[in-house]
Amino acid sequence: NEALKENEAKSVSSVTSSRRRSVLPQDMSKPVNKRLSHAVKSLDMVPKKGKFEDTNRPNKQFYQMIEEFRETLEVLPLSLSDMVEARRICVCVRKRPLNSKEVTKNDIDVVSIPGNGTLLLHEPKQKVDLTKYLDNQVFHFDYSFDESSTNDLVYRFTAKPLVQTIFDGGVATCFAYGQTGSGKTHTMGGDFSGKSQNNAKGIYAMAAQDVFALLKQRRYSGLDLCPYVTFFEIYNSKVFDLLNKKAKLRVLEDEKQQVQVVGLQEMYVSCAEDVIKMIEMGSACRTSGQTSANANSSRSHAVLQVILRRRNQVHGKFSLVDLAGNERGIDVRSSDRQTLVETAEINRSLLALKECIRSLGMDSHHIPFRMSKLTQVLRDSFIGENSRTCMIAMVSPGMSSCDSTVNTLRYADRVKELNGTLKMND
Ligand code: ADP
Ligand code: MG
Repeated sequence: NEALKENEAKSVSSVTSSRRRSVLPQDMSKPVNKRLSHAVKSLDMVPKKGKFEDTNRPNKQFYQMIEEFRETLEVLPLSLSDMVEARRICVCVRKRPLNSKEVTKNDIDVVSIPGNGTLLLHEPKQKVDLTKYLDNQVFHFDYSFDESSTNDLVYRFTAKPLVQTIFDGGVATCFAYGQTGSGKTHTMGGDFSGKSQNNAKGIYAMAAQDVFALLKQRRYSGLDLCPYVTFFEIYNSKVFDLLNKKAKLRVLEDEKQQVQVVGLQEMYVSCAEDVIKMIEMGSACRTSGQTSANANSSRSHAVLQVILRRRNQVHGKFSLVDLAGNERGIDVRSSDRQTLVETAEINRSLLALKECIRSLGMDSHHIPFRMSKLTQVLRDSFIGENSRTCMIAMVSPGMSSCDSTVNTLRYADRVKELNGTLKMND
């Protein structure tokens, strides 16, 4: 067993190119790689006995192991004054706090964000002889937001740098990805306080506010740009207009491969408050008429677009997408046909999305956008020199969400792979 550990330790320190790996707690005293080394303090300190004794949790032992591990971490949280780097493809991760339901169930927090784009997942595991241990996995992203991060902070490093792109005649896209309940709608649509959502405090609204701020600037006021908003939902490969009573719309592709959503309402907006009204209207429309069996909003992708038109031609477009939940663990035997079809469709579209972003990152001429309705509708986002994308992967902190969290992190990791060094040259 010792030899095994040693081997694993060796492989950990020898592989420096991969961004994801497992580390044993004792290895954390050695620098794992450049980016993590400053985040790990020496393990010499002995955790104070009795410090965690007051807990009476079913997973107490894991809780203690994680807390002891955390004592070795040096935390450098991201702050509003930190520099924002311009990137063509940016992949970030956001962890939400444990919610009251999780706290009541004595769930434990298995995710640590020491800062600097790093995320640690402490996956509780058990050996055949029932000894408990942690599989500590390290992930690196462009930015990592911990549970105390506000939507303002997340916005500043994710969607805000993309607003400029649409004024420069480009296409910007921001995705919220993750399992249901991980915080996608909270991030995009706005904070929930109780049951109501504050739509002015989400990335949708903040982006709209910045669009209007730039429109007023002298360098753009001469361009004669007019802002419009569309808001639609893609459910089971069908497009529904959230600004027009969920009217079902057709998607057509012309001979020049231009994709059109026929009849989609494009609303002229004269101020950020107009946009917030549309967000409220569309969000209410999205969640109305839902039954527990189907048409659940977590099973659909919602797309809010801010379009800048100049003499009726599209000048720039910003798509903000609240994706369908990526959960995989659907029970095939107990689920009805509808749920299985839905799940297959969601998986297909998320797979297509990953492939399309990767194509953009590689400047590939082959973009597999026809793989799903989502990528077909967003085709513009994946082509052209002036397309920029940001993905925010949301994770729930609980041990009960561990499998989903691993899935989410692996997906985000794949989106970023090959794109790590690709930066804007402006
Ligand atoms: P999703 O859209 O991914 O299914 P939601 O955005 O609806 O998830 O979030 C699920 C619940 O968690 C909501 O009650 C929301 O208020 C809460 N929540 C999500 N993210 C955060 C956060 N960063 N801080 C506080 N509460 C959050
Ligand atoms: Mg949601």
